[in-house]
Formats: sequence, C-alpha cells, structure tokens
Amino acid sequence: MLTKMLIAGAQEDGLGAPEQVLNPRTGELLVQVPEADESQVMRAVAAARAAFPGWARTSPAERSAKLLAIADAVDARAEQLAKLEALNTGKPYHAALGDELPAVADVFRFFAGAVRNMTGPVAGEYMPGHTSMIRRDPIGVVASIAPWNYPLMMMAWKLAPALAGGNTVVMKPSEQTPLTALLMAEVLAGILPTGVVNVITGQGGSVGNTLINHPDIDMVSITGDVATGKKVLQAASKTVKRTHLELGGKAPVIVFDDADLARVVEGIRTFGYYNAGQDCTAACRIYAASGIYEKLVADLSSAVSSIVFDDADDSKNEIPPLISQRQQGRVASFVQRATDLSHIEVTAGGSAGAGSGFYYQPTVIAGALQTDEIVQREVFGPVVSITRFDAPEQAVIWANDSQYGLASSVWTGNIGRALETAAALQYGCTWVNTHFMLVNEMPHGGLKQSGYGKDMSMYALEDYSVPRHVMIAH
Ligand code: NAD
Repeated sequence: MLTKMLIAGAQEDGLGAPEQVLNPRTGELLVQVPEADESQVMRAVAAARAAFPGWARTSPAERSAKLLAIADAVDARAEQLAKLEALNTGKPYHAALGDELPAVADVFRFFAGAVRNMTGPVAGEYMPGHTSMIRRDPIGVVASIAPWNYPLMMMAWKLAPALAGGNTVVMKPSEQTPLTALLMAEVLAGILPTGVVNVITGQGGSVGNTLINHPDIDMVSITGDVATGKKVLQAASKTVKRTHLELGGKAPVIVFDDADLARVVEGIRTFGYYNAGQDCTAACRIYAASGIYEKLVADLSSAVSSIVFDDADDSKNEIPPLISQRQQGRVASFVQRATDLSHIEVTAGGSAGAGSGFYYQPTVIAGALQTDEIVQREVFGPVVSITRFDAPEQAVIWANDSQYGLASSVWTGNIGRALETAAALQYGCTWVNTHFMLVNEMPHGGLKQSGYGKDMSMYALEDYSVPRHVMIAH
C-alpha cells in the first residue's frame, strides 16, 4: 500500500502527523498515512508554479496525448485501483470495478478530445481598423481538494479539465481516503512532466487550510461540505482566487400519481441508496402525490428492506457501509431526531448494523413534513424521506424550498408535466423518470449553496480556463 506523496516529480513520505486510515467494513486500521508538513505544502505549490509555464505552452494535442495515456493507465490498473478504492471506502469491489473505474478512465478520454475542440466567438473587425480575437488560456496553479465519497472519481473530475486547460495542480485527497490518490500519484509521475501534478495528503484544517490561503494558488477547486466551501471563499477573498465549489445536495424527487410505480420504486431503491446515500445527488427527498403515496411507501419500504449491505460475501453487497464511525453516528442521530416526531413512521431500517463496521440499515422515513430536519438537511447516508403532496404546484414549491440546488428528478407519464416541472425546478440537473445518471458530455454542478462551477463537459474546460481578448490595430 503506497503512502508516499508526489512533490516535484519525486515520491516522498509526509513529514507531518500520521493519519489513521480505516477499513469501514471492519473499523480496523489499514495503514497510517503521514500528512504533509508546511514545508512540503510550500514545495508542492512551488513545483506546480515552476511547471506551469512549460505545461501551459504545450499544444492541445500534446496535453490530449498525456490524458489518453492516463486513461490507458487507469484501464491497465483498473483491478488494483478498484481493490484499493473498495478497501478504503468499503464500496463493494464489483461496484468500484464495474461502475466507477470505466467512468474514471472516460473522464480523461473526454477531456483529451474536448481540449482539441474548443470553440468561441469569431475573430474579426468589430471596430474599424482593429482585429479582435479570443484566446482561452490556463488560469495557473490549481489547488484541487477532494472528498471521501468517490475519491478516485473526484480526483479525475478535478485533474482532467485542469490539465487539459494547461493548468498545473496540487491535489489533496480526503484524509480519510488517500489511498487511490497515492497510487495514481505514482502513475502520474510516470506520464506527466515534473511538477505538473503534485499530490499531498493531510487534514482540511492543516494542509487544506494552508493550500487555500497560499498566495501562489490561482484557483481552488473543492468538492465538500457547504461549510468548507464558505471557508474557501473567505480564504480566496484575500488574493481574489478563482473558486470552483461543488458542495452538498438534498435532491428532491417529485412523483406524480401517473408515474410508473414499479419504475419509481426500482429507481429510488437504486439511486437513493447507491454508495449508502453518500452522494450529493442521492434521491433522498421524495414528494409523492396523494394518489400514489400509500402504495409507494409500502412498495419502496419492502424493496429497500431487500438491499444487501453487510454480507460477508462482498460480491452480494449492493451498497457499502458509511465511511466512518462519526458518519455512522451522524446518520443515526438524524434518524433518531426524526423518529422522535409523532407524525413520522420508519417503514424500513432505522438502526445501525451489527458489528464493528460502520454499517447503517437502508432506511425509509414516511410521513415527513416539509419543515422537518430530515427533509431540510443533508444526511449523506442511506436514508430517504417521503412527504405527501396534494397539488402539483405545492410539490414544486417544496422542492425548491431548500438551501441546496444540485440535482432533482420528476417521475410522471405525462411529458408536458415533466417538462413544465423541470423548467420550474432550481437545480443544476433535473432527470425525468430516472435519477443519478451522469455522462461526461453533460455538466454537473449546483445552484444556491450547492456551489457553482461545472464538473465534466465543455463547461468544466471553460471553468478551468480564461477567455482573453487580443485586439490588433491595423
Ligand atoms: P469536507 O468538506 O469535510 O471535506 C472535503 C475536503 O475538504 C477534504 O479533502 C477535506 O480535508 C477538505 N477540507 C476540510 N476543511 C477544509 C479547510 N478548512 N480548508 C481546506 N480544505 C478543507 O466534506 P466531506 O465530508 O469529505 O464530503 C462530504 C461532503 O461533500 C458532503 O456535503 C457532500 O454533499 C459533498 N459532495 C459534493 C459533491 C458535489 O458534486 N457537489 C460531490 C461529492 C460530495
């Protein structure tokens, strides 16, 4: 198991405090990963700064070739990466290997193609005697800070557009899930010029905080909690850094009474609980029309009770445990506070799993009201609430009554109603009769306190580059 960081092309041990990395399935220590000390953070930023002019001058074709080489290396090491990701996060190995690894490689392939296909306004004489043209240039050194729910995927979402755009990067994985990032560091060292990507480990309050306050960082890209995003904004204001914030979510799922019930149940069983609900787009806040509510509660509760999550045979598991004991306790306390309310009924799950792993039973909370904490706050666990509505307009008002604005879905057999509802929802994405589906060609990112800036798609490449006007007097 690799514990070495990557700074200026060399792999080295962190000189800071050791961080315990645990196996969420057992609670046991996997390995200790020392964090970067201050001098190592400084050297990583200096290495990215030194590498910037050379990398920024490479042609799109050269950067594309490097990204394709990274994608090929991810494919070649897919089993090794998936095993490590599964070990560190508790994800079922088959999910890491089958769902996530191909998507990770595809991120690099998409941006390898995208950077050779950027478009913009036409050069021309917009003022007599002057020719104007637009350039798209890199921003500089990007600090990329990732969360623990999809460590490798989030690393790919951040690295690929930043590198394609000609930026250099200092990457910090979550202190809880650094292992695949450290393996990728070794892979990247063999492909990229020295200093183009540096990978350093450590906690948010120490290493992350030093990074976001560093005057030589030009942009901070972070996926994490809303509170963390606000800290990034405060730090960024000191030197007016660019920021790219992918923060939390609390996706509303509006189910009209003409929806295909079996499809809704199957959809929520999958998309509400994938990765144990540790997903900012999780289908966790259901609004069900009165005509379908009772049947949906009954059928969903029975379907959710069949989710396999703590089998000793990992190949049978559909979802992982939670990432940590702290997260397990947090989820349990949300459910406890909901259960204390007399109008709430827990119709599936409702308690932590047995044993020392950080398991929590897939849970359905029926009868939730709009003002309930379980409807308003992000749980980030395998917990779905169901709220009954009478008028369609009410469902849209409730769906939009949230500090978050990342993802949403509408389930109905009526295409007009689907499109009208999609238009009225204030979310970065609205799915119709599905949820959770992402493709690299389309943007992912939020509104409101879910943040701003897009991952994936041409929009991400725009976020990691700046348009510049060059005007030539004749
Ligand atoms: P977190 O905010 O605690 O940590 C995210 C990262 O930020 C970690 O690497 C952490 O070390 C770092 N960090 C923490 N404090 C910092 C600070 N003061 N300065 C600099 N860096 C700091 O979030 P988490 O618990 O790892 O992840 C869960 C959160 O991420 C959830 O709220 C979830 O919704 C959100 N998330 C959002 C998306 C999205 O696309 N919008 C995707 C995945 C997760």
